[in-house]
Amino acid sequence: MPSTKFIALFLLFTGGAWNSEFTIRLKTREIRTSEDGQAGSAGFLKRRTAGISHYLLQFREPPGEDLVEELERRGARITGRVPRSGLMAAVPDGMDFGRLGLRWAGRLAGEDKISPLLHAAADLRLAPAREAFLVEFHPDVDMQDARGLAAEEQLEVRENPYLLGRHLLVEGALQAASRLAEWDEVAYLFPASTELRQGLPVTACSGAMLNQGLAGQYVRIAEGWGGSGPDGLRLGYFIGNLPGSLPPDAARREILRALAEWGRYTRLEFVPVASPQIPLTVAILFAAGSHGDAYPFDGPGRILAHTFYPAPPNPEPIAGDMHFDLEESWRTGRAVDLFSVALHEVGHALGLGHSDRPGSVMYPYYRMNWGLAPDDIEGIQSLYGVRESTWKPPAEPGVPNAPDPPGPFPPPGKPPAPPAQPDRTAPALRITVPASTIAATPAAAFVLKGTAWDNTGVVSVRWSNSAGGSGEADGTAFWSAEVPVQPGTNALTVRAFDAAGNSSWRSVTVVRK
Ligand code: ZN
Ligand code: CA
Repeated sequence: MPSTKFIALFLLFTGGAWNSEFTIRLKTREIRTSEDGQAGSAGFLKRRTAGISHYLLQFREPPGEDLVEELERRGARITGRVPRSGLMAAVPDGMDFGRLGLRWAGRLAGEDKISPLLHAAADLRLAPAREAFLVEFHPDVDMQDARGLAAEEQLEVRENPYLLGRHLLVEGALQAASRLAEWDEVAYLFPASTELRQGLPVTACSGAMLNQGLAGQYVRIAEGWGGSGPDGLRLGYFIGNLPGSLPPDAARREILRALAEWGRYTRLEFVPVASPQIPLTVAILFAAGSHGDAYPFDGPGRILAHTFYPAPPNPEPIAGDMHFDLEESWRTGRAVDLFSVALHEVGHALGLGHSDRPGSVMYPYYRMNWGLAPDDIEGIQSLYGVRESTWKPPAEPGVPNAPDPPGPFPPPGKPPAPPAQPDRTAPALRITVPASTIAATPAAAFVLKGTAWDNTGVVSVRWSNSAGGSGEADGTAFWSAEVPVQPGTNALTVRAFDAAGNSSWRSVTVVRK
């Protein structure tokens, strides 16, 4: 039997500056963490798992790795990132919250977890007696327990093997779903799309990347790129490489079309830039497996792409970057449709989170799309304003930059924007492993190592393979990279970049037998 136990919800104020900026934006409401009594009412904690419950935590500083480690040491488990400076965590009863720089802590009430779209339908008496809901559980919840909770609240579980691991598709009355939302294990409830209701195969977006972690569906992401003014926003884009499954021109056209679709409705302009390291740049790359961030791709199917939110909250240069799984069969007009996936991912690169509205591009499950839905347009216009008159498609780069050719960088005719005091000294780069410029291996991956030095500091070392794939090396001054290699000849190019976008490269040929 699940334990239903009375635990008063408590608030913790641990001091610190009063700052009206401190808010937590949920889809359902804005929590002002500087005000007393706003964390929901004290009440019965309904939970399946005794001893653990989920807390929304806000800290005085954005939580870094040390803090996350300390929380884990005390027995908590991070289950989501929440702007600003917040985390959702599964916390053991009686955990000491002291000396964490904690500003605010509270639990979500049932009503905090029901999409406003469901409330709206109910208020208008539009809600059918029986409807389909997607229930998002906190990622630490056992999904067999989740099925048990749904059954207990008289909701029918509709199995769909294509759902995200933390999602359950249930059917029943809104009142039953509202009771389900009162369980601590439930993170959020929102409408199921037509495709899901029909049990069709779907592919989920793996998530919206926020401060090195994922944000739950309950979070309202409401911030775009900093630095946008009355003239709107100018964003660079850099296409690092393209998939082998499409002609390069077609792949490039689909990506540019996805950028352009967002620019049609809001004051955004995309310009090609010469380096992925330039701030305010959406760097686009196709990579297989591990590719330099904490989120390796998984081969054909399942995870198709992921994108990092703008800066803030993400740091440059990863902010806004879009990564696509190189091992998918990218196509045009049919699955896996590059335009449809890119259109969704560009939404994240511009600062939009997942929408609750079925049929919108930003719904967490991809669908074939030909353009933005009203919900998407409203979202992007809330960030960057309304484009009133003429619309310009994104400029084509003067020099194609894919496949990434070895040679002078940046390509002729495309110098990076000069800094106030231009730094034109490119980093010095050496490959130390292998010692020769040609090497052979029977293995599917090859380890490169080397050194890099620069007068202002090396900001990144990246590799690319002529046979497909690119990524970021670990480290800078002393770097290493495990590069996937294909049977046959692989021309591996390594580039070191400084903050001004200067780079130099070295290459080595690896033959996989
Ligand atoms: Zn997404
Ligand atoms: Ca995949």
